[in-house]
Amino acid sequence: MSKTMAINAGSSSLKFQIIEMPEETVISKGLVERIGLAEGNLEIKYTDAEGQSQKFTLTEEIADHSRAVELLLSNLLELGIIQDFEEIKGVGHRVVAGGEIYKESTLVNEELIKNVEDLAEFAPLHNPAEAVVMRVFQEKLPHATMAAVFDTSFHTTMPAENYLYSLPYEFYENYSVRKYGAHGTSHQFVAHRAAEIVGKPIEDLRIITCHLGNGASITAVKNGESIDTSMGFTPLAGVTMGTRTGDIDASVIPFIMEKEGISDINEVINIFNKKSGLLGLSGVSSDMRDVEEAAEAGNERAQTALDIFYNRVIKYVGQYVAIMNGVDVVVFTAGIGENSKETREIVMKNFEYMGVKIDSERNNTRDEAIISTDDSTVTVINIPTNEEIAIARDVERLKAN
Ligand code: ADP
Repeated sequence: MSKTMAINAGSSSLKFQIIEMPEETVISKGLVERIGLAEGNLEIKYTDAEGQSQKFTLTEEIADHSRAVELLLSNLLELGIIQDFEEIKGVGHRVVAGGEIYKESTLVNEELIKNVEDLAEFAPLHNPAEAVVMRVFQEKLPHATMAAVFDTSFHTTMPAENYLYSLPYEFYENYSVRKYGAHGTSHQFVAHRAAEIVGKPIEDLRIITCHLGNGASITAVKNGESIDTSMGFTPLAGVTMGTRTGDIDASVIPFIMEKEGISDINEVINIFNKKSGLLGLSGVSSDMRDVEEAAEAGNERAQTALDIFYNRVIKYVGQYVAIMNGVDVVVFTAGIGENSKETREIVMKNFEYMGVKIDSERNNTRDEAIISTDDSTVTVINIPTNEEIAIARDVERLKAN
């Protein structure tokens, strides 16, 4: 039995879980937020010696990621969640951009950290913070096995016809402009779980995984490998999301800049990333629950936002059925995928032509379950994703090597 930390660092936050391995029991989780702002927060959830669930919170200035890690580790000791840093035998770091270099999870060393820094132009908000956090953990927990788990690794198997844009080829050769995708850890995790559930080798299956959270992406998995995914050069592409546009005609950019008197193109990209999607369309919220509620109450824009979201998911699933010449399993996961039975039902209704049948009773669930009928030509499964467990498993695997 040993403790592994799964770390997910962003530009101003750091989420963590401590997982007892190989049992995969989560003994503590929480986050540090508002790093670099006047009032930072630390929140740690854990179970105390009497078996009671506890939540520890602290508010103070947390100047940088180094301080965030220090504060987190010292409070883990003080709360008695760990007795000694030596207990933490492994640390897995989620890294957003691994470019074409990292095809799988990799042990952290100085070269890797440098590469993560160099890849910052593909994930300017995430990679620099992740590099800093890896360095701090190396310093504080030098004995621990440390691995980087990349969001992009699973998608490095895509063929050129799916990862290349129809741009001058030199842009790919000179600047590595291509589709990288994201959410790879989640797509890989649920695809493998789906194969276990249907009891067939993943190599024999055509799977479409729909990770529908605040960020959303859809992946075609053939022979156990990602062959196409809806996110692109960055997570902006693909289906409509909480606040992101998904796919859009690039000509809209100069047009909006002129009409709105915007001179900085980054402002437009910011609108596409943060003010569009369900939020921009509905004018209500980026949160699916709020949009569903507003639509229910008769808000037409909210209903249109929902219709567009469903429509984009349907179109991507349809594309992936086409490129794989059929599909054996469709998986729904993440906040919306796991919880919104309406989304699952509405999306899959469009595939009745190929013999897909959803069982309404089975679909009334938030847990892992097959939600299609026994005679459905395609098995449709709801699978809660668990990126932290996937990260901890990769650390264990690398530790054993
Ligand atoms: P993130 O990408 O931030 O990890 P999550 O996977 O947590 O996102 O998903 C968040 C989304 O899931 C939000 O849009 C939220 O409204 C949606 N969601 C959560 N619960 C439900 C529910 N019961 N019904 C519909 N949507 C839900």
